[in-house]
Amino acid sequence: MDQVDYTVYTFGFDGNSIKDLESAVRRLGATIIDIRMEPYGPSKVFNRPQLQNQFGARYVWIKELSWDGICQDCGRVEVKDIDLGARKLGSITADGTPVILLCACENIDECHRNDLAKQLNEECGWKICHLPQPVAKSGDLFLDN
Ligand SMILES: [Zn+2]
Repeated sequence: MDQVDYTVYTFGFDGNSIKDLESAVRRLGATIIDIRMEPYGPSKVFNRPQLQNQFGARYVWIKELSWDGICQDCGRVEVKDIDLGARKLGSITADGTPVILLCACENIDECHRNDLAKQLNEECGWKICHLPQPVAKSGDLFLDN
């Protein structure tokens, strides 16, 4: 998992439509990585069966990467099983396939996908891009394709 010039994307679907996700997947050629503890919620279109139906192999639920609490010692967000989760993730990203970490939370600061992305940035050097985003601002060069 140490590619250079690799970007990990994240997407919080609350307040966004399935169309936003769909267009991001299409634009990036990405695979959705669902990192919710339970891939179900009030919004049916974002439930696992619907997502599997719509995106096929481009949708994968990696339960091991779901939120599992906060470390008592260091205050860091912990995921269920980072080793297994990272291995599963690595098997998808190995050929350079972009991934979109999917969670519900609208606010990135309150979501563990932020911590997970940061961890991937620290350990693998991956760039981070939170979706959906308004049209690329200057500086967001990697959004331009
Ligand atoms: Zn979240």
